[in-house]
Amino acid sequence: MPQIIDGKEISAQIKEELKEKVMAMKKEGISVCLAVIQVGDDPASSVYVGNKKKACAYIGIASLSYELPEETTQEELLALIDKLNKQKDVDGILVQLPVPKHIDEDAVIRAIAPEKDVDGFHPQSVGALCIGQRGFVSCTPAGIIQLLKRSGIEIAGKECVVIGRSNIVGKPMALLLLRENGTVTVAHSRTKDLKEVTKRADILVAAVGKPKMITREYIKEGAVVIDVGIHRNENNKLCGDVDYDDVAPVCSAITPVPGGVGPMTIAMLMNNCVESAALKR
Ligand code: NAD
Repeated sequence: MPQIIDGKEISAQIKEELKEKVMAMKKEGISVCLAVIQVGDDPASSVYVGNKKKACAYIGIASLSYELPEETTQEELLALIDKLNKQKDVDGILVQLPVPKHIDEDAVIRAIAPEKDVDGFHPQSVGALCIGQRGFVSCTPAGIIQLLKRSGIEIAGKECVVIGRSNIVGKPMALLLLRENGTVTVAHSRTKDLKEVTKRADILVAAVGKPKMITREYIKEGAVVIDVGIHRNENNKLCGDVDYDDVAPVCSAITPVPGGVGPMTIAMLMNNCVESAALKR
């Protein structure tokens, strides 16, 4: 049977390390603070925001919470971001996406000061990642690198295939694997003969957004399989982009859903907040 890459355990480890770091920083008079903004009351967003605030409280990061009504204008939201950009005691600013349709998401992302862009979505952060400079990295792909490293999986020299080219997962994932010296291929909805491409992968990252699409026909025997997808199946149970039961017997390591990539995203967000505070002082 394959190695099960335990995101719950690894994210708990990271949170413990951060808790200690925050405690040590407090002794030196350095506090850490994340501002979380939610516009409207989308139930899924409320759950994500709640989980982020809970993680902050656990680690010892202060959180400022802004729950704005659905009809908030873009100008009002940008004015709040501008105020938080200038506020010295705020280390990170997070606007929970998606924002309501009348607000331009790109304008919101661009408005956050890059030094407080703990989600890593600002064009400056993405550009820095691209050319190997310091900047915040999108949390889900950063979490996947931690999963691999802390599970003792070598990336350097490996054939890495990422399925998906979204700005928040696929593209930064490919850049991070490249930074770790993997040989990286990005596959997407226009890729011809996807199976032929994925079968080359020593490390396969599935960020397709299609429940259980990746079956064993896509996998090279002994590959490491990372499943980014999160879906609810017909029985309301969580599943990923990978058909876990079909793929697990042929791979060497795999992330489950739930309990794989999911818990890492918040852990890396917390890591970015602590890093922001540490860098600022
Ligand atoms: P997205 O819809 O923006 O991107 C999906 C990508 O898959 C696209 O680039 C598309 O080209 C590619 N694709 C679609 N169909 C394909 C096909 N048949 N063959 C090959 N490529 C195909 O999605 P996303 O935001 O990148 O998220 C991907 C998945 O990861 C979703 O299930 C999402 O819910 C999940 N997700 C999880 C986390 C987490 O914390 N675990 C975070 C973000 C996203």
